[in-house]
Amino acid sequence: MSQKNDGCEGCNERSGTPDLLEVKGVKKLVRHRYFQPAFQLVAMVFFIFIIIAGLTGGQDTRFSVEDDFATIIVWDVWHPLLAFSILFVGRLWCFACPLGAISEWTRRTFSLNRRYPEKFRNMWIAIILFIVISAATKHLFRFERNPLATALLLLSFIGLSVVISLVYEKRTFCRFICPTGIILGVFSMISGTELRVKSKKVCFNHSEKECLTGNENGHGCSMYEFPQTLERNSFCIFCTECIKTCSKDNIRISTRKFGADILKLRKPHLDEAFFIHSIIVILLFKIGMERAPFRYRIIDFVNFVGLDRNLMALLIFAGLSIAAIGLMYLINRAVHSRAGEKTSHLTDYVRYTYALIPLGLGIYLIDNAFKVIRGVFYLISQASHPFGMELFQFNQPAIPYEAINFFQILLLLGGFAASLYFGLAMVGKNGKKVVLSNILPLVVVVLIYTLIALRILTLDILSY
Ligand code: SF4
Ligand code: SF4
Repeated sequence: MSQKNDGCEGCNERSGTPDLLEVKGVKKLVRHRYFQPAFQLVAMVFFIFIIIAGLTGGQDTRFSVEDDFATIIVWDVWHPLLAFSILFVGRLWCFACPLGAISEWTRRTFSLNRRYPEKFRNMWIAIILFIVISAATKHLFRFERNPLATALLLLSFIGLSVVISLVYEKRTFCRFICPTGIILGVFSMISGTELRVKSKKVCFNHSEKECLTGNENGHGCSMYEFPQTLERNSFCIFCTECIKTCSKDNIRISTRKFGADILKLRKPHLDEAFFIHSIIVILLFKIGMERAPFRYRIIDFVNFVGLDRNLMALLIFAGLSIAAIGLMYLINRAVHSRAGEKTSHLTDYVRYTYALIPLGLGIYLIDNAFKVIRGVFYLISQASHPFGMELFQFNQPAIPYEAINFFQILLLLGGFAASLYFGLAMVGKNGKKVVLSNILPLVVVVLIYTLIALRILTLDILSY
């Protein structure tokens, strides 16, 4: 029997996997008023501890390994664990993020609650911050080995999130400005978990829309999302407010196939496409800088140009990002005009860029592979003698460099294969036959990135 939906788009969509909220006791727990604040508070205490350690930790850990707590926890523990968690739980970190909590609590205490201007409702500011911080990480402020600079970076983000919250409505900082947010947002399209409505038809017939307006049980969605039309993970931070407010009990959290959002993508965005290329080339460059031959060539080049090396880092990262997306655009145009097609297929080209997300995530994880091992061993060794007591003997087991490098190559090949798979599947989903002109630009770009990454990963590393 056919179902009539009276204009309710997507009403027949169903999830085939079990709802994790139906596990005994989970929904009750999640709906508890203090559920999220409890996690935020713990994260906040830890965050403050890191800032204090950073402020008192000196300016360069090369000269004092005693003072490296802040840098190791931020760059070798928190950031790599975050990277590896995206694959399974998307933006779950944002649920407990202290910056998000500060922003939310500030806004609820006082805010002018202005509408964030339409022209800034995109990811360009976050992308610029991402490029600047990437350049400053190893160069200008050397965040990764400077506890004081790391603490000041965290404090400056607290300041920015507070100012934005005092002026604008909702979690504007988290949605449009946070550079970690854009990384999590884009890569969480792959994640194997999603929060969605159980039935769009129930939403369609529910005029109160408490998930938008909020009610006595919770707040309206602060991430500018509307659960009824939520079709990808990018901006849902699992804050659980809609689970609390929906009187129809119509929200579910389910596992799903990896990459489901890429295949279902309805509206591609140029800013996100730019970011996908940008993060790939910037991370390839950073991984390359840890390999001797690559590093020495770049140093020779920077010396040859003669500009300040901090400025050069910024110019190289911005230039590489523009060149990368430009290259894919030019290949796309060339292939389509060769095939006799008149339009430049800008939308298709932006759309197929999303197929690069698995390769981008693979390269992101490659960049974090050594760090996560260093960070985990650091945690175990700290736990073995808290406050100077020796609880158990811990001798850092040496994981051979070759084993990690092999793991990195596996990550790369996994990302490569998944990107090709998603590219082909997206063309098929668009109702097009997989002809050369549809898929060739993507295949060429995936191959270029993969071969460059493979070459870098087979160069001698500086130190481990
Ligand atoms: S409150 Fe619940 S049923 Fe109503 S629109 Fe929101 S998610 Fe759908
Ligand atoms: S209110 Fe619901 S849809 Fe909005 S961010 Fe929170 S969990 Fe996601």
